[in-house]
Formats: sequence, C-alpha cells, structure tokens
Amino acid sequence: MKFEEYKKSVKANADNELVNLKDFIPGITLDILYATTNNFTDEKIYNLARAYARKPVAEALKRAQLDFNKLGYGIKIFDGYRPYSATVKFYEVMKGDTTYVANPYKGSRHNRGCAIDMSLIDLKTKLELKMPTEYDAPVMESWPTAPVSDPVVRKNRDTIISVMERNGFKVYTTEWWHFDFIGWDKFVVMNIDFEELEK
Ligand SMILES: [Zn+2]
Repeated sequence: MKFEEYKKSVKANADNELVNLKDFIPGITLDILYATTNNFTDEKIYNLARAYARKPVAEALKRAQLDFNKLGYGIKIFDGYRPYSATVKFYEVMKGDTTYVANPYKGSRHNRGCAIDMSLIDLKTKLELKMPTEYDAPVMESWPTAPVSDPVVRKNRDTIISVMERNGFKVYTTEWWHFDFIGWDKFVVMNIDFEELEK
C-alpha cells in the first residue's frame, strides 16, 4: 500500500494510523539496530531510527509499559512497523531460509504494523535485563519454550512474555523478543518508509 492509499485508509478507519511509539508511550526506549550496521545483515536497512505501530497496537503496548513500570522495568524496542522493502532485503540476505525471516511473498506482521521486537530495561540502572539470547540470534535458545538454566534469565523471559500476552500480544514460536498483536490479520502489508510517514 502506498502513501496516498494509506492516508485514505486512516481517514476511513483511525485504527490504521501508524503511531510514533517514542512520542506515544512515556519513557519507552528505542534501540533500532536496523538503522545501524549492527544487525544480522551487517547493512544499514533504515535511514531513520524509528519505531511505529498501528494505533490499537500502540495503545496495547502503552498498557504493557504501565504494567512493566510497576515491576521496575521499561520497554526497549528493537523494531516495530517494517516497510515491505526491508523484509525483501532480509530474505535476500538469508537466501530464502524462512526459519527466522518472513517469506516476503506473504509479507510479515511487522509489515502490517502489528509486531514488536523488544526487550526490557531496569528503570534504575537503564540496563537491559538478561535474556536467553541476543536479539535476532538464529539459535534454538531463542525459542520461548527452550530450557533455561539461569533462574534470573528464566524469570526475565517469563515476565516479558506474560505481561505482553496479558496485554493483547502473542510471543512468536522461535523468538522470545517478537510479539504479534492479536488482530494483526485486520491490517494490510505496507511499503511506506519512515521519511514518507514524517512528511
Ligand atoms: Zn520480529
């Protein structure tokens, strides 16, 4: 979907709006690794370090942030809405292996503005909580069902998943950091970049 169509779709239904999460959610932190070369492609995929999501997704995430805050934690976002062109690029880099990247012919839930890649920080130290793996690690330990021996790491993983699932998201089968908004299927795949959204 292109920009003009997107604008029309927002007029028809306000839920279609892509919301800037940094502006919308107090205290949220961003670490948009795809706007740097420090990601699995070793290439800069985004020109701007931004995180966007559809309005109901942003609202659900705001509620989750309040729940995390009560526990002394805050959300740190690695990625949100992802233009379709970026998904095609990932797929090319992974040479068609769809275990950890979406098949571009279907489009991913990130392309619909309905998926969030994230971790948690400690509000006092601002440091990231210890999780089973790094973001985007293509290993079995990334699966949310993988065994974890360190009780602190297990508790951190349980916390991020349980709070997110209580607030309308579902963790992805192979990635503890990826959360799909329940209701993602009501939104279409888009290929609008961040610059265009901020025009
Ligand atoms: Zn993801």
